[in-house]
Amino acid sequence: MSENNPRFMALFLELFESLPRQGPGSRACAERALRLCRELPPVPRILDLGCGTGAQTLCLAELTAGSILAIDSHAPSIERLRQTLAERGLSRRVKAQVGDMAQLELPTASFDLIWSEGALYNIGIEIALPICLELLRPGGYLAFTDAVWRRENPPEEVRVAFEQEGVTLGWAAEVAASITQGGFELLDHFTLPDAAWWDDFYTPMLARIEAMRHQYANDREALTILDEIAKEPEMHRHYANYYGYEFFVARRR
Ligand code: SAH
Repeated sequence: MSENNPRFMALFLELFESLPRQGPGSRACAERALRLCRELPPVPRILDLGCGTGAQTLCLAELTAGSILAIDSHAPSIERLRQTLAERGLSRRVKAQVGDMAQLELPTASFDLIWSEGALYNIGIEIALPICLELLRPGGYLAFTDAVWRRENPPEEVRVAFEQEGVTLGWAAEVAASITQGGFELLDHFTLPDAAWWDDFYTPMLARIEAMRHQYANDREALTILDEIAKEPEMHRHYANYYGYEFFVARRR
């Protein structure tokens, strides 16, 4: 059962698109990371990569007076974000666009801040860093989250789960080294607290899975897939001390 199974993907997307966020994160963490970007201009030009349905995009719109370009490769998420922006009267200042962050056709040195929560791993940090470096003006900021190991010798279950998702976890120190070697000054990094995993992500995910179990009560395949998806929050409940999400804030030299 995996992302190669079309039924799995359909149910996974139905579930994820309905959640407040598609990965760990919180407004409090976004505020903390933003505070580290001390010398942003009053109206910063911001790029949000892998924005999903835009939880953090909306935080940035509230916390700054900037213009924001939010990009995601999944069209339905962009559609949902556009609707939210229209409802909140933000459509002029915040643009949502379908796009591939590995192939952005944007002018070089055109952003003061690049933001990305739980998304850069999709193309790999080693590919993402030079892309961000080129798009940032000198002195521009890069703030992103990435999954990292927190403890040696993770249980087999945890290792296999990440392997199956095709996610290779590094250590915060390794990511920090890549940042520094990539032409950035690392300003700080911090670990996302448990609340950032549960409040807007896993708690609504489990509630939604429960609702979908009723919706698909007579569909054995769907129920098996939902059980499979529900393993992720359960794994985190047991093994959160082995892996986490780290917020990195850096500045282009
Ligand atoms: N930042 C959001 C979404 C995180 S989930 C949040 O924290 O809630 C990761 C997102 O990256 C998904 O929405 C996925 O569609 C997007 N993504 C994956 N590969 C991408 C790519 N190559 N270019 C742009 N977005 C991508």
